[in-house]
Amino acid sequence: MDISFILNELGEERPRHYGAVTPPLYQNSNFCFASIQDMREALVSELDNPFYTRGNNPTVEVLRKKIAALEGAEDALIFASGSAAIAAAVMSCVQGGDHVVCVAKPYSWTAKLLGKMLSRYGVESSFIDGRETENWERAIRPNTRLFMLESPNSMTFELQDIPAVTAIAKAHGIHTILDNSYASPLNQNPLAMGVDIVCHSASKYLSGHSDMVAGVLASSRSRVEKIFDSEFMTLGGIISPHDAWLMIRGLRTLAIRMERVAQTTPVIVDFLANHPKVEQVIYPHHPSFPQYELAQKQQKAPSGQFTVLLKAEKIEQVEAFCDALQRFLIACSWGGYESLIYPVCVLYSSGNYSETPLPWNMVRFYIGLEEKEVLLADLEQALEKL
Ligand SMILES: *Cc1c(COP(=O)(O)O)cnc(C)c1O
Repeated sequence: MDISFILNELGEERPRHYGAVTPPLYQNSNFCFASIQDMREALVSELDNPFYTRGNNPTVEVLRKKIAALEGAEDALIFASGSAAIAAAVMSCVQGGDHVVCVAKPYSWTAKLLGKMLSRYGVESSFIDGRETENWERAIRPNTRLFMLESPNSMTFELQDIPAVTAIAKAHGIHTILDNSYASPLNQNPLAMGVDIVCHSASKYLSGHSDMVAGVLASSRSRVEKIFDSEFMTLGGIISPHDAWLMIRGLRTLAIRMERVAQTTPVIVDFLANHPKVEQVIYPHHPSFPQYELAQKQQKAPSGQFTVLLKAEKIEQVEAFCDALQRFLIACSWGGYESLIYPVCVLYSSGNYSETPLPWNMVRFYIGLEEKEVLLADLEQALEKL
């Protein structure tokens, strides 16, 4: 199935909707039936039939088909946030007394889920340097049930050798989940590399317009059924039909957005890597990156996120640089049309995150859809203020 077909046609069944070229928004909680028999038939599988919107909604169903196809999965589930999708995936794999092995610096709320929440229910987690494949093997205990991967992770972009790590997991009967938000399903398909469940924050590339929060997971039909019947329906962290409709709209341009980002980001990274006020760039697709070759092998094209370590003596210089940028917004998140910076110095002395081990001269960049010349000129003038 080609990408254009998935993004523009799959699951839309236009003849059923008067030929509407855009799927209608089913903004309803409830569905009614002409007879007891009809209702009974729908209830046989709430995953497949519109019955009540927490389970199935026709607008959300379009998305399920597209996300599954993009990841080469049998089925997918759509959630209210990436964190909800990750939590449901993780909880479906473990129970009290189990042990999880996770990459050292996963997404912050994944770290909290494993390290602070599930530990209350008797699930223990070890956080390891996932770059070395043997570390995964070494961390296995008799009760290890899950490997939690994120390749690459945010801020420092460490990769895992996905086929090698999933081979170890399979040999020991261990489940694997991978957070694939950074690469998007266009640039990396973890299921084809042996991963059991792939998750995304759809608030990022999949929706792509910074106008909604959502998450997805994609997996085999049997895993999706199992998650649907327990975590999905019980915790109920579902996307609204309206946000699903927005995500379908965002997906139309996923391929051209990713193409644009793959063209501009390496140019901007090169500029920064050669700038005297930059100590280091951390970008999986820059030759200076220690796992550059693995990134080339596992990801089809470069993504739009990287980190820079600035040459600065004090935190005020970093702040002056960040404040001087005109075209990069100072914000968290990423994956929209707009370029962003997320400076680590903001975490210093901010209550919720102050335990960060990351250095204050580190700034994460996200490259949006602006012309590269505009962004380069902005960086040039702001670096003079550093
Ligand atoms: C943003 C993000 C998440 C969480 O997604 P939300 O949609 O914000 O809940 C998870 N993983 C990664 C890598 C992210 O960037």
